[in-house]
Amino acid sequence: MDTLRREIHSLNKAPKLRSTVQDVDKIIEELEAARAQVAATLDTHTASLTMAKLQNPLNRHFEVMTQDLKNVSKVHKNLGKTLDKAMPVKPLPTDHDVMAEHMDLINRAIAMHLLREGEFSVAETFQNETQDDVTLADVTATQPSTGPDGTEDQIMSEPDGGGPDLMEMSYQSEPVAKRQQSQASHIPPPELKDRFADMYRILESIRHHDLGPAIEWAREHSEELEARGSNFEFDLTKLQYVWLFRGPEVNGLPSDRPNGRLGAYLYGKENFPRFQARHLHEIQQLASAMVFAPNLPDSPYSSLFAVDQSFSEIAASFTREFCSLLGLSAESPLYIATTAGALALPRAIKYASAALAKGTAWTTTDELAFETPLPSNMIYHSIFVCPVSKEQTNEANPPVMIPCGHVLGRETLKKLCKGNRFKCPYCPQDGLFKDARRIVL
Ligand SMILES: [Zn+2]
Repeated sequence: MDTLRREIHSLNKAPKLRSTVQDVDKIIEELEAARAQVAATLDTHTASLTMAKLQNPLNRHFEVMTQDLKNVSKVHKNLGKTLDKAMPVKPLPTDHDVMAEHMDLINRAIAMHLLREGEFSVAETFQNETQDDVTLADVTATQPSTGPDGTEDQIMSEPDGGGPDLMEMSYQSEPVAKRQQSQASHIPPPELKDRFADMYRILESIRHHDLGPAIEWAREHSEELEARGSNFEFDLTKLQYVWLFRGPEVNGLPSDRPNGRLGAYLYGKENFPRFQARHLHEIQQLASAMVFAPNLPDSPYSSLFAVDQSFSEIAASFTREFCSLLGLSAESPLYIATTAGALALPRAIKYASAALAKGTAWTTTDELAFETPLPSNMIYHSIFVCPVSKEQTNEANPPVMIPCGHVLGRETLKKLCKGNRFKCPYCPQDGLFKDARRIVL
């Protein structure tokens, strides 16, 4: 690991190619100037003189460029070697690549990840390139009669509209034709880019302690946020109140509007009434803090007025709310999948090679035969093991709750049944098979 760290360090210290790019620009400039000169003269002698003059400076530039490139590629090569040594490539525990047939899904996940990270130009290039691949493969493989124009039109025709519909229409709508769906499904709708650009604009102002754009957004989506039971709009209003309360020496807001305690009072008076029904207690606390204003740090309300973490917290909840209104998870699924995969894969490989050595095969298709060392925030589906059969439940054998409240695997319950009736192995109460309800964990 130390060697690896050293190599990364020297990579960071290695000459950057920025100056090389400038050299290339210089070469282009000189070539263009020479071309203009040659074009302007009718005299062949002057023309060849211009060309001859060009030779030496060009050679020099090229030499410098080659040296620069050599230096950089040397560092890269060394790093590559060290990486290979430190992390040798191990074969995957299975020959069957389940995702091989779903390249469009993988491409979509990558494109979505880039968009939500705000890497718009990279996302665009990626989409164009994968789109070319699909179009090409499609034209040559399945539809020789359809020209690239026709297929491109299909890809580009995206539904307009907004909100969650945006996602539903482009991702989950009933496909007109399967082929069309497989092409269109990996392309996030173009409107999504604008949405994320909006998100980054608002996040940027939150970073600069300007809550205005976020408040405006929350006001616009007030009903949707309310319907989700979100406190985001109130949290924003509360932070704005606290921020004003702290006064100009802390918040540095322009003096054209009331600031300090008066500003907070006026802001609260105008904005808090809307939240009274749900947040009366907090509003009372915020208002009462006025009395302690001269000595707020020693008052019972000091924690309410600490703003150190508030802006980063509000930025995080803004991202969460924004994504959820778009029908997306707060964290990038690609990030989660890759991280979880990187954590779990070493065990999978270990298990597979141990199984191979013993001559046993991995027989379970819907469950893992080993535990994955994932942190709790990466575990989305709880596992239920039937307490009677000790089998892990799955789609074919889901957990069911019987009227007494005990939960068993459905297969177990079937075996317990005499006719339609069964006796709970725990209580033991009688019940009817039809009264058992499937539960989703
Ligand atoms: Zn029971």
